[in-house]
Amino acid sequence: MKSFATLCIEDPRPLEGVRSTNLPIYATSSFYFDDVAQSQLAFTGKSPQPFYSRYSNPTVEAVSDKIARLEGFCTDLEPWAVLTSSGMSAISTLVLGVLKAGDTIITQGNIYGGTTELFEKVVRPLGVEVVYVDFQNMDQVGQKISEVNGSKLVFAETPSNPALDCIDLGALCKLSHGMGAKVVVDNTFCTPYLQRPFAFGVDFIIHSTTKFLHGHGSSTAGAIVGADLDIRKRVWESMKLLGTNCSPFEAWMINMGLKTLTIRMDKHCANAMEIAKRLENHHNVLKVNYNSLASHPYHELAKKQMSQFGAMVSFEVKGGLEKASNFMNQLQHCMLAPTLGDTHTLVLHPSGMSHINVDKAIREANGITDGLVRLSVGIEDVEDIWMDLERALGN
Ligand SMILES: *Cc1c(COP(=O)(O)O)cnc(C)c1O
Repeated sequence: MKSFATLCIEDPRPLEGVRSTNLPIYATSSFYFDDVAQSQLAFTGKSPQPFYSRYSNPTVEAVSDKIARLEGFCTDLEPWAVLTSSGMSAISTLVLGVLKAGDTIITQGNIYGGTTELFEKVVRPLGVEVVYVDFQNMDQVGQKISEVNGSKLVFAETPSNPALDCIDLGALCKLSHGMGAKVVVDNTFCTPYLQRPFAFGVDFIIHSTTKFLHGHGSSTAGAIVGADLDIRKRVWESMKLLGTNCSPFEAWMINMGLKTLTIRMDKHCANAMEIAKRLENHHNVLKVNYNSLASHPYHELAKKQMSQFGAMVSFEVKGGLEKASNFMNQLQHCMLAPTLGDTHTLVLHPSGMSHINVDKAIREANGITDGLVRLSVGIEDVEDIWMDLERALGN
């Protein structure tokens, strides 16, 4: 079997007999039929031939197949993936495809801010119950799942954003499956190179490919990955009817990023580990959240579930909001930007940016204080990143 890194690089050949070394972009909204019989086979799903790009496009299919193979790597599953226009549309497409009024989402407070906002502002008003639990407390999770109605979807993120708490995926899946609930994990922070949730029994994986899978900050797209073929049909229909499809160009951009996934992630992780260590020893830093640190409460769990500790680091600047703002305003290299997973080091203020629309009580219960700063450590020379952070932290 070929290695993970090779699978990231290798392109499928979507067109028989054409020998392009790289994946071509099929910039077409539709594909013609030779005759009426062929059109009927396509429209009744009896032929896999692509005919309309919102339904299916060879460039998009090639990249979704690659992501599915990467998530299924070293498992005995043969997963499918559906690409979408963004990470948010991956989540909404999955949720609207598999749940209906009367069903329940069981989730945690400390996930991507947009996901919580989507659940509260769009999903809950459609009649889907949303309940928050602490995924560290399996008794509480079991209690909640047993209390709620309808189809149950457990939605988790590990490591969480931005405090980087880890959830025991094996334990969560065992408990959830025992009570008839399916488990979704947003694997955006890790990518399948660092963490493969299927190995722990997870049912669906979500990606904002906008982040590390593309990895260059030049594309917005998302992916839903699953293994159950009946559910693939529902998810694909949801994508097709909501119109949340990924464009061929964006799929191609994801593929370009995937080719360097392993070397980028190795460098991201090495840089993040070094920056976390130095921050922990800085007198103007109160607390550092990074899973490689022995001080981190989820160090052991992270070691079990992840092959490396990732690019995301968060830390509390001594002196709260004022000192944290000073620090961010002093940065000259690192950019204050509301994303992550770029080659460049990015800084974000969770309570004032990504989580500003999340209820303050939910925010603070999850460690998102006003002095907390999140870093997406890039792949620059680590000394250049540190020089900037150290200067901005002051004496
Ligand atoms: C960015 C992000 C999303 C949303 O993705 P978009 O591509 O911006 O729609 C969802 N989950 C996580 C963990 C993210 O970082």
